[in-house]
Amino acid sequence: MFVFVGLSVAGLTVLAVSFFIKPENTHEHSYVWSTVQDANCQHDGIMEGKCSCGDKITKILPQTDHNFVVVDEPAATCEHEGKRMEKCSFCNLVKTGSEQTIPQTGHKWNEGHIELQPDCTNPGRKTCTCEYCHTQQQFTIDALGHDVDEVNWVIDKDPTFFENGSKSHHCKRQGCQFKKDITPIDKLELTNPEVTYNIKLTKTNGENLPTSTTPTIVVKDAAGQEKGRTDGFNYSITLPSNQMFYVTVSNLQAGYTAQESYTLTPDVTDVKIKIPAAPIEFVTETHGRYAIGSVIVDDPIKVLGRNSGEDYETSLGKLLKQYKGLFINTYFNTCPACNAEMPYFKNAYNATSRYGEKYSDEIAVVMINVQDHDDAIRNKKNSENIPMMMAARDVWLSAHFRNISGDYYPTSIWIDCEGVIVGSYTGAIYNFTNYFDILLDRYYTIKGKTRPSDKVQTTASATKIYVVEPKKRRIV
Ligand SMILES: [Zn+2]
Ligand SMILES: [Zn+2]
Ligand SMILES: [Zn+2]
Ligand SMILES: [Zn+2]
Repeated sequence: MFVFVGLSVAGLTVLAVSFFIKPENTHEHSYVWSTVQDANCQHDGIMEGKCSCGDKITKILPQTDHNFVVVDEPAATCEHEGKRMEKCSFCNLVKTGSEQTIPQTGHKWNEGHIELQPDCTNPGRKTCTCEYCHTQQQFTIDALGHDVDEVNWVIDKDPTFFENGSKSHHCKRQGCQFKKDITPIDKLELTNPEVTYNIKLTKTNGENLPTSTTPTIVVKDAAGQEKGRTDGFNYSITLPSNQMFYVTVSNLQAGYTAQESYTLTPDVTDVKIKIPAAPIEFVTETHGRYAIGSVIVDDPIKVLGRNSGEDYETSLGKLLKQYKGLFINTYFNTCPACNAEMPYFKNAYNATSRYGEKYSDEIAVVMINVQDHDDAIRNKKNSENIPMMMAARDVWLSAHFRNISGDYYPTSIWIDCEGVIVGSYTGAIYNFTNYFDILLDRYYTIKGKTRPSDKVQTTASATKIYVVEPKKRRIV
């Protein structure tokens, strides 16, 4: 600072003297810094300081180290390995020794879509999609293996009084037939030493037997010793449960045949003995009126040949022993509908079934004239070349079927191998083979067999329905 010195005297003008000392430079710079160039791994940085006075200074920032960061180049994918390294973010310099291989990730499959469900023994199939790359691939699903219920037994066969049963553990999975631990079950033993059998006789079709005769039912033991008998269609008998017994049936109406014997075992106490009507011993004694369901009697017939030397005698019962069914056609020569159906009738008779059977070998086809004399019948056979059996005139034979025909002609009647009248049709038929087939099917059903199939016939035997009204017979 300055020193200011002054004197003053009273009454005197005092000359003031002062001294001015020039100040020294006392301003202090105040720099504001700015970056001119950043320092990095390649070069120094420069900063410049500017003071309000205009003074400028610079400062050097030293070059930095590389700024290494970890990068994946290229990244690993599902199917290809990748590379990982440390790389300078400024200059891309790869740090020496930092490079490493990253293994491929592999696909990451989703649950997929099941195309085929596996079962116990067969594998299934599914298609999965990779969550990363959306590639699709098919996979096999392992077979499930059996899931056997080891706790609960399944009875595979019930025991009977004479045979063991069997049980096993089954696989629980639906549709699987696998079973194991197959174990026999002891046969049954009755606590009650006796068993009551209720025996009932019926026809093979379940209907009652004709009551015109009373059958005899006899029960015998294995040694042939008789244990009981009755005359009737039903019999109840109480017998020891530890033996088998045999039933014989006799005195059936003619036309019915019993088997030699039927076995009684305690397994079946409600015994239905089914008697087949077998046309073996028909007797023509009544000329009663047939209905559908009747069993025919053994009518004798004379079959006319092309000349009298070819004529022969037979009977409906004999024919039923030779053939699988009997087809009766009742007609008279001047009946228009009868003549209308004749071409179809002959075609059907000569036809082969779709099973390969020649109908004429299988079915006895008999034409029964209700009006004309033998010469006229024979003339018709020759002039129209009719291959079917044509019966000689017989009023009793034709009268049997009149109840069914109602005296309208033609009437066809089909009779099964047991002699039962199965059905009839009054009027011209164009599809005779349908009825032949009914008889053949019925034959195999009654015999418990399958109709043998040789070949399949593809052509229909007829295509048009021939409509001709049946005609009432002229009374002569
Ligand atoms: Zn300054
Ligand atoms: Zn760098
Ligand atoms: Zn993938
Ligand atoms: Zn299974």
